[in-house]
Amino acid sequence: MADLTRLTATEIAARIASGEVSAVEVTEAHLDRIAAVDERVHAFLHVDAEGALDAARAVDTRRAAGEELGPLAGVPIAVKDVLTTRGVPTTAASRILEGWRPPYDATIVERLRAAGTVMLGKTNMDEFAMGSSTEYSAYGPTFNPWDLGRIPGGSGGGSAAALAAYEAPLAIGTDTGGSIRQPGAVTGTVGAKPTYGGTSRYGLIAFSSSLDTPGPCARTVLDAALLHSVIGGHDPRDSTSVPQPVPDVVAAARAGAAGDLTGMRLGLVREFATEAGGEPGVTAAFRDAVDALTKLGAEVVEVSCPHFEYALPAYYLIAPSECSSNLARFDGVRFGLRTGDDGVRSLEEVMSLTRDMGFGAEVKRRIMLGTYALSSGYYDAYYGQAQKVRTLISRDFTAAFEQVDALISPTTPFVAFPLGSRTADPYQMYLADLFTIPSNLYGGPAISVPCGLSEGLPVGLQVMAPTMADDRMYRVAAALESAVGTLTPPAL
Ligand code: GLN
Repeated sequence: MADLTRLTATEIAARIASGEVSAVEVTEAHLDRIAAVDERVHAFLHVDAEGALDAARAVDTRRAAGEELGPLAGVPIAVKDVLTTRGVPTTAASRILEGWRPPYDATIVERLRAAGTVMLGKTNMDEFAMGSSTEYSAYGPTFNPWDLGRIPGGSGGGSAAALAAYEAPLAIGTDTGGSIRQPGAVTGTVGAKPTYGGTSRYGLIAFSSSLDTPGPCARTVLDAALLHSVIGGHDPRDSTSVPQPVPDVVAAARAGAAGDLTGMRLGLVREFATEAGGEPGVTAAFRDAVDALTKLGAEVVEVSCPHFEYALPAYYLIAPSECSSNLARFDGVRFGLRTGDDGVRSLEEVMSLTRDMGFGAEVKRRIMLGTYALSSGYYDAYYGQAQKVRTLISRDFTAAFEQVDALISPTTPFVAFPLGSRTADPYQMYLADLFTIPSNLYGGPAISVPCGLSEGLPVGLQVMAPTMADDRMYRVAAALESAVGTLTPPAL
């Protein structure tokens, strides 16, 4: 039998539906793969072998009873450890949540279970999703399957590495400033950030509530679209959830795979081309991909988004501000870790000791930045100003989408960098999200799809579309994939 871990989710679902393989066989193959490689990759913080086999058995039973199975029934999936999973440890890669078993499932997890997907476990990430390399996990970094000396991107490096290492065919990520797309780009996988509010935040441990967007990660565009269609759509438990159905992203991915983009106008952001820090190899791979898109019939023009150059500073005021408020709930009383509770120390001392022990350096840096930016006397100068910049960036998008159907760019300015090379200087780390952050501030969908290699390492192309035009983004991404193909990492 062919190696089941090499199949796409679409292929796995078809084989299970036809009875060619059982969901249990598929799950066992992936658990075996995890056992064989995850010591070196460290994509997972927790593997739930028992839960996975139970879920797989349930799918096999339903099939045997002649029940109709959904499009992803029996397909294994890895879930970023920032989504709550009932009874299964959830840490957000922080010491402060060590040992916490949530009493409820996130809406996305609930939908994954209802669809019959098989959750293999929880994936590593930067603590509370703050970072671009997964080096800020309190439980040690994840290693890029393309080169174990390099980072897998972040914050969702575990989810992306699990795909690239063939430990799972599907994964869930969350994207606040690029944490689905940037790991996708540097691991040669596909990662999509849906329209903000298009996927539920209920049960997502909050980082920056006005930006946080859960989304699908996969090895192909069609698989990502299928997963998107299963997890997306209105959730009454999330007040910012869009009360509209998900656009038909699966049909769009299928249409795109035919490789015809005639009539599609794509925009290159002029201001991105002048940004410092873009590696020549990345630019070259991106240029080749633009040529490929043109050959598929797309018309590519330059557009100007003059405020994009302020996206990074605006984001690093808004995201820390919201995080300083969201992370106030980790007080040593309600969840996880409690330090110094000796019956003598005051509540305030215990709280302070717990937060000091429980949070890592980057999380503390963000909380301090955010508390400062929100403090009276500075609010207008920092947070208020950043919100105004956010509005200007959204207007740049609106104006651009009057001229073009979608915007394209490299996903990241550089390929996967060596572990440890950017941890000393936070700004160097923040630069990884130069091209991804604008669409978070605006709220529109954006996807990263592999477009080639630079010095043997994957390069991603980003497609950004107007809000609720997620289908259009999949169409362009699938067309590009049909032209350049998928990328296969060297054997582990
Ligand atoms: N790298 C960015 C940050 O550190 C984005 C993180 C994310 O999207 N969760 O904030």
